Amino acid sequence: MKIRQGKVYLVGAGPGDCGLLTVKGLEKLKIADVVVYDRLINNELLSYCKEECEKIFVGKESGYHPIKQEKITEILLNKSKAGNIVVRLKGGNPFVFGRGSEEAIALKKAGIDFEIIPGITSGLAAPIYSGIPITQRGLITQCVFVTAHECPDKPGTQVDWEKLAKLNNTSLVIYMGASRIEAISQKLIEYGMNPGTPAAVVENGTLPNQRTITARLDHITEEFKKENFHAPAIIMISPAISLRDEISWFEKKRLLNKRIVISGEKDQQDELYHHLSDLGAEVLKLSLIQKKLKNPDINLPELFLKNNFEWVCFTGESEVKSFFELLKEKKSDARIFGNKKIASIGSGTAKTLESFGLTPDYSRDELSSALTTDSFKNKYKMNGHDLLWIKNFNGQALGPDEFRGMGKKVRAVEVCEYQPDNPEPEIVDEIKNNGADVFIFTNKSAIENFFNVLGNEKTKEILNNKKVIATDPVSADALAGKGIVNVIVSSKQSAQGICEAVYDLF
Ligand code: SAH
Repeated sequence: MKIRQGKVYLVGAGPGDCGLLTVKGLEKLKIADVVVYDRLINNELLSYCKEECEKIFVGKESGYHPIKQEKITEILLNKSKAGNIVVRLKGGNPFVFGRGSEEAIALKKAGIDFEIIPGITSGLAAPIYSGIPITQRGLITQCVFVTAHECPDKPGTQVDWEKLAKLNNTSLVIYMGASRIEAISQKLIEYGMNPGTPAAVVENGTLPNQRTITARLDHITEEFKKENFHAPAIIMISPAISLRDEISWFEKKRLLNKRIVISGEKDQQDELYHHLSDLGAEVLKLSLIQKKLKNPDINLPELFLKNNFEWVCFTGESEVKSFFELLKEKKSDARIFGNKKIASIGSGTAKTLESFGLTPDYSRDELSSALTTDSFKNKYKMNGHDLLWIKNFNGQALGPDEFRGMGKKVRAVEVCEYQPDNPEPEIVDEIKNNGADVFIFTNKSAIENFFNVLGNEKTKEILNNKKVIATDPVSADALAGKGIVNVIVSSKQSAQGICEAVYDLF
């Protein structure tokens, strides 16, 4: 019998910003059976793993080693020998001060198949996110990556600080130096480096809480202490630091340092996530609901045939997708619309309809009493026409009641419903422990599950005095029902519209 051979991918996770993981690294993360990860890994990366993936934390604090390197290697060997695809996720680049080579050698010795996927090292990424070039034409012609793991005063230290102090036209990029900045700067000056050389420290590089200080080499320690800087930090000593005044970009983002929780359906969070992250926010995605088809036996083609609807109204992305799934089950497609008119209400609905080749005749972003507005009634002479209302089972603001009295027949069909999903425990813990600045709720069922997952009292405590945005009146009512007041109702439901609401808060 042939036993499946396991394999280990040593993957560089990048410096912190999830977007800096390579495409190849992401591919492997998605298929991994086991992920073995370090302390400086952005936990959000773990949300890309498949549900059944085993996640093993082997983080090491500086000077404190809860799990020894040998133990980590043993885990890699055991898990891969058992036939698993193992991703060993290491901060930055596994081969830059990362002990990746030791793990690779152990795998080689044990005859385990492995691959190494480079990552963006923090020594490159942190200065760049700070607006400091690594090389600069006419100014910097070389760059040295150096570890400050050893105290520069230690006799027999392997780093030749004396030589480094004498290099011209050079960027010195120092890793692991936060606790030794004073000794390093003093030593370099003692060995002849100009005390006026520009120095910088980038703390939490590429993350939403990134901070940078710059000063002359002889003042950098003072500044470091004054601003209470900590590891992880990259120290840079380089004439190119002066260019930061012009190039600084990341730290200028409006929502930097703001933590925002978005909740809802996993596959509908990408656009909002993208917009908010782009403004600099740290965005935590909580997958609280999942869409399930409702009424799987419904015969939509027959329904269309027996009733002469003039209008078909869709009220959300999920409703459109579910409608077409149900249609396909009956071996039918978009042709059943013939010359019916199509109305689209809610965020992303029109876009989704268009992806099925249908351009709505009427489209509104907000989920308010849109269809009943006078403009619509007059313009489209709705009165007296029959309408098919495609909705979901939960929390739909409008229903046939809205149309009663308008003198026409409305038929509502539920094509999907939301059921609670299990959000990633790491993200739930993060919210429980450290909270957030803004919470965005787009769905009543998601609100129910948010309170279930975090617990009623804890949720109230977390939401209290924070900014809470609901994207529709139903969600706002659901929050009010749970005792959360001062909820801001965003007038627009689109990702762009929600972002504007958040932007205005700060
Ligand atoms: N292999 C990693 C380095 C591991 S050594 C890489 O390629 O980036 C750990 C050191 O990396 C820290 O002490 C700090 O100097 C640096 N570091 C890691 N992440 C960082 C971050 N987000 N911002 C600043 N420095 C970071």
